[in-house]
Amino acid sequence: MATAVIGAGVAGLVAAYELVKTGERPIIIEPSTPGGMLRSVQHDGFTLEAGPNVLVERPDVVQLFRELGLKDDVCYPAVQPYGQFVWCDGEARKVPSGVGELIRSSLFPWNIKLSLPGRLLLPGVIKPKAEDVSILEFFTPLIGAQVTKNLLDPVLKGIYGGDVAKLSARSIFPGLWSAAERGLSLLGYMRRRPRGGKPAIFVVRGGIQRIADALWARLKDNVDLIPARADSIARHDGGGYVVNCSNGQQLSVESCIVTSAGASLAGLVKELDKDLGSYISAQQYASLTVVHFSVPRSEPLIKDAFGILFPGGMPENLLGVMFNSLIFPHVAPPDKHILTVIVGGAQAGDARPDESRLREQVPLLLKRYLGVASAECLRITQWPRAIPQLVVGHHKIVAEFDRVEAANPGVAFVGVDRGGIGVSDRVRLAKSGVERVRTVKNHG
Ligand SMILES: Cc1cc2nc3c(=O)[nH]c(=O)nc-3n(C[C@H](O)[C@H](O)[C@H](O)COP(=O)(O)OP(=O)(O)OC[C@H]3O[C@@H](n4cnc5c(N)ncnc54)[C@H](O)[C@@H]3O)c2cc1C
Repeated sequence: MATAVIGAGVAGLVAAYELVKTGERPIIIEPSTPGGMLRSVQHDGFTLEAGPNVLVERPDVVQLFRELGLKDDVCYPAVQPYGQFVWCDGEARKVPSGVGELIRSSLFPWNIKLSLPGRLLLPGVIKPKAEDVSILEFFTPLIGAQVTKNLLDPVLKGIYGGDVAKLSARSIFPGLWSAAERGLSLLGYMRRRPRGGKPAIFVVRGGIQRIADALWARLKDNVDLIPARADSIARHDGGGYVVNCSNGQQLSVESCIVTSAGASLAGLVKELDKDLGSYISAQQYASLTVVHFSVPRSEPLIKDAFGILFPGGMPENLLGVMFNSLIFPHVAPPDKHILTVIVGGAQAGDARPDESRLREQVPLLLKRYLGVASAECLRITQWPRAIPQLVVGHHKIVAEFDRVEAANPGVAFVGVDRGGIGVSDRVRLAKSGVERVRTVKNHG
């Protein structure tokens, strides 16, 4: 019997690819075009990334690129060092990238700067008082509530579209959390971390969707594709699982790698395990909208900046603006820059923003906050309920995944509700899902 891979975003494609490498012919169940959120559009000399904009260089991704023959298409930032900025008290301020910059940074008040060395060295400063706390509560004893809000809130809004008062310190900073639980000082934690520095970021020439295209090119003749939604998974009396699909097909499979998340996952697992379904239903998601603008290269963007991130409460729920072509010049024609504006997030709720309003209002915000006088809207992409909110207590959902996997050998959950939301996290988790079902096959 085959393995079913539910969903063909990057996680599903990587899982299927790993299975095919060992001679299996998996069944992929996917109602849309393979690729999921990896969506790149070529438009008049621009490479527009409607989904992920940059990738983080991690070993699994490097190996995948090598295997897919994409290594030569990797582009690193042309500007080094580049900066990230946050909007604070009416101006763009650079996120400090070292001790020297931190001492000069106006993001940190003097009382925090003066007490920081002691707080960094002192064991137990961030020792949590509960089984999980918010990022605001966790970091306040170290850098103060104001700096946490001014600095960490916009940065995490840029990644999760979420709020530091709600996001979980335990789930978002797992390494730091376990060091803090052991009462280590922050410096103690940093010393014990594996060496190697901050991983590089990169883009793919021609667009990040090329990863999905390259994977699909290798898979299409070696998998069975069911162009439908998987509606339910149940245990099969004679062993293995039955997957019911929205086109009426009923598949008997030996194992299942599940990459879907959110409402779709909650419905899918109801027969397998009611409790997991209700945990997943309670999971919150942030919707994001990506608006691409073309601006003349003569416009005054912040020098050597990759982008600017905004705190909560901005007009139009503005979260961030990326200056993609400032550090990756090949993604725009020589006389133009591309700006990627992200709006939405948990604060905005689920209502779909009005696109004509965004076309009108966002250029006014670009003028007001960045001094950009002329911006032409190229494209708007809406991602409803796109990013899971790893709020305080999220570890309980992860524990539920572990419990249901243990009770159902051959099922692996590798969706975005678990194990990191970045593309490199998705690749790593998909590979570990394949390892899991393979171990069961070998021992069962
Ligand atoms: C605007 C935006 C910007 C981002 N920026 C970055 C970035 O810069 N860097 C980064 O690393 N990450 C970024 N991310 C996150 C990253 O893109 C995603 O986490 C990743 O692409 C998710 O991959 P996935 O395969 O897990 O899920 P998806 O890409 O969502 O794929 C899931 C697939 O499963 C299918 N599916 C769902 N339910 C079912 C079902 N019941 N049956 C069958 N099929 C089903 C869906 O149709 C979909 O194709 C960004 C995300 C967004 C939305």
